[in-house]
Formats: sequence, structure tokens, C-alpha cells
Amino acid sequence: MTSQGVEFYERLGVKRLINAASWITVYGGSIMPPAVVTAMEDASRWFVDMHELNAKAGQVIANLTGAEAGLVTAGSAAGMVLEAAACMAGSDPAKVWRLPDTTGMKNEIILHRAHRVNYDHNFRAAGATLVEIGNSGSTAEWELEDAINENTAAVAYIFGPRRGGALPLDKVVEIAHKREVPVIVDAAAMLPPPENLTQFIAMGADMVSFSGGKGVLGPQSTGILAGRADLIEAAYANGAPNSDSIGRAAKVCKEEIAGLVTALEIFVDTDFEAVMSGWRDQCAHVVESLGDIPGLRLALSEARPEMLESMSNAPRALIYFEHDWKGPSRDQVLQMLEDGDPGVRVNASGFEGEIAIIPVNLRRGEEIELARRLREVLTGG
Ligand SMILES: *Cc1c(COP(=O)(O)O)cnc(C)c1O
Repeated sequence: MTSQGVEFYERLGVKRLINAASWITVYGGSIMPPAVVTAMEDASRWFVDMHELNAKAGQVIANLTGAEAGLVTAGSAAGMVLEAAACMAGSDPAKVWRLPDTTGMKNEIILHRAHRVNYDHNFRAAGATLVEIGNSGSTAEWELEDAINENTAAVAYIFGPRRGGALPLDKVVEIAHKREVPVIVDAAAMLPPPENLTQFIAMGADMVSFSGGKGVLGPQSTGILAGRADLIEAAYANGAPNSDSIGRAAKVCKEEIAGLVTALEIFVDTDFEAVMSGWRDQCAHVVESLGDIPGLRLALSEARPEMLESMSNAPRALIYFEHDWKGPSRDQVLQMLEDGDPGVRVNASGFEGEIAIIPVNLRRGEEIELARRLREVLTGG
């Protein structure tokens, strides 16, 4: 492993991380391919009219998603703010100005209780009131029908780590559209597979928000919004560069737009079968390297993108502690991994007691150092 380019972080005294946790914002998100960095550097040398740049970048998104229109956002979270704002205020300048005060607007956003995630805060940030349907295990169609009323601005659908008991998206679209209510989707971590770029739009979603800085490998602070032309126009009216808007705090600069567009063009050209098989090999190395340690159970979990859950989009190596395990506790293992230099971050957000190695942010060959560190920490040797 080369440590080229780490000088800046060393100068500040910031420790490098091995990121086996996935596209996690607090661990730096993702690494941009060199061509993306070059595009940002090129864009940084010149002035352009931001309306023109936004419109042309939006056209690229529209073409690649099959939507009528698109917009580069400051991350999927900012896309959610703009989705909510667009459905409540539209492009009406008086309403755009009034948000997050929603007086005189439809302001309820319906979402499944099974879809509650930290990020639904972004709908509330625009001024929306959340209305929950269903429970953690199931939702009936009548619950959605019953929740829709004259104050309903939108139905939100969130593709998170696990889908739980939500109605399928196409059913939600069918019910909402019968009442002329738009369906807004957060699919932040659902790329790859690239098919999802078009899939949710094709199912009838009115707006879909993706992260640009997760699997797309664009700038960490970017996102992709795609959808109906009138709603994308409204999203734009509710955000930067419009300086008197709720979304102005989530500005996107010309360099980020250049980086995102370039990353997206590379993304749709990528051979993901090859990428997945590389990720699988990295997981297999971890499983094989630790398989002989008594009291541990290792498993390789295959990618299952058809489950439409962000946890299933890539293969994973899973570590379980059996009842006869005599070594350090999971929390002690996590702490020792963090305390080393470089620090190691694994994913402990899944099932209780499980440690997941998610390979999407491992550099080539880094699985060898990772497996060695895991072994040291687990065996105390
Ligand atoms: C990561 C994530 C977000 C936030 O996306 P950003 O691009 O970091 O703003 C929102 N929703 C879900 C389900 C996510 O996984």
C-alpha cells in the first residue's frame, strides 16, 4: 500500500482510516476517481453562469435517469429538503419566501413508520409535518389511503438499510396518484446497481434523490435529484443560487457540479460485475484469513440488489461471536480497531452482535492489512 498524498493529514495530525464500514459520511464518505478530481480542477479555472451550468448538468441527469428533468444537489439530504419544499411551495415566490412557515400550503408528508430514518429530519427542515403509517413489520393499503387528505403535500418513500414492512413503491405510487399526490423518494445509498438510476422513476416516482458522494464516487457533498419537470423547477426555485430560499444553505459550486457530472458519466460506464467480484474477493480473503479462530463464525453474504435495501447492494464479510468465544467483547474489538494507526472502521450497525466488513471503500489490496489487524485484535497476538 502506498501512502502517497497522506502528507496533508499528517501535517494536521489527523490519523488515516481503513474504511471497511461503507459510504459513511463521518469516515469521509468515498474516494473520487482521478478523472473526477481533474474535472473539478478544470472547472475551478473559469467563471460560468450558474443557471446555465445547473440547467445543462440537469439535462445530463435527466438523460441518465429517464426523468423529465434533473438537478445537482448538495447531497441526498439536501435533495430531501428540496423535494419537500417543491411539493409544498411549488415555484410560487411568495410561498418559496415563506418556508419553513407553511401557512397557506399543504404541509403533510406521509411516510411508513418502517421508513423512519435520521434523514427524514430533512423533510421537517423544510417545514413539513410527518404523518406515519403502518408499523415496524407491516402496512396495509388502507392506511395510506386513509392518511391522504387535503393537507397532504407528498408521500415519501425511503430506501434505507432494511425495508421492513413497507408497501412496495409501485403500489404507493398507484394509491398516491389516484389522489393526485406526488411520491418523493430518498434512494441515497441505492447506487450501485446502476439500474436503480432509472428503476424508481420508471415505477412512477415523481422525484428521486440519490447521493453523489456514495457509490457514484462524486464529490462527497453532492447529490442527484431527478423527476417531473415542474417539480424540479420548483426544487431549483427553493434552493441555491436563489438567495432567499430554504435550500440556499445547501449551495452547490461549479466545481462540485463538474465533479458530479463526470462521476455519473463514469458510473454508468462501469462494469459492476467486475467491481462486485473484486469486492467479493476482498470479503473472501477476510473470511478465509480468520476462519480458523476458535469461537468465531465467519460468513460471506452475497449482494442481493433485488431486495432494494442499501445493506444488500454489495457483498459483505460477517463476523459472529459464538457462545464459547473467549476473546475480547465486540465493543472492545471495535475500540482496539479504532485505536490503532491507521484506525480501522468496520460496520456494527447491522444485527446485534454482528461485525460487518463492507468492502466498497477498501482500496485494492487493503483487505490484507485489514485481515491482519482483525486477527491481531481478535487473538491478542
Ligand atoms: C446517506 C443517506 C442519506 C444522506 O445522503 P447524503 O448524500 O450524505 O446527504 C439519506 N438517506 C439515506 C437512506 C442515506 O443512506
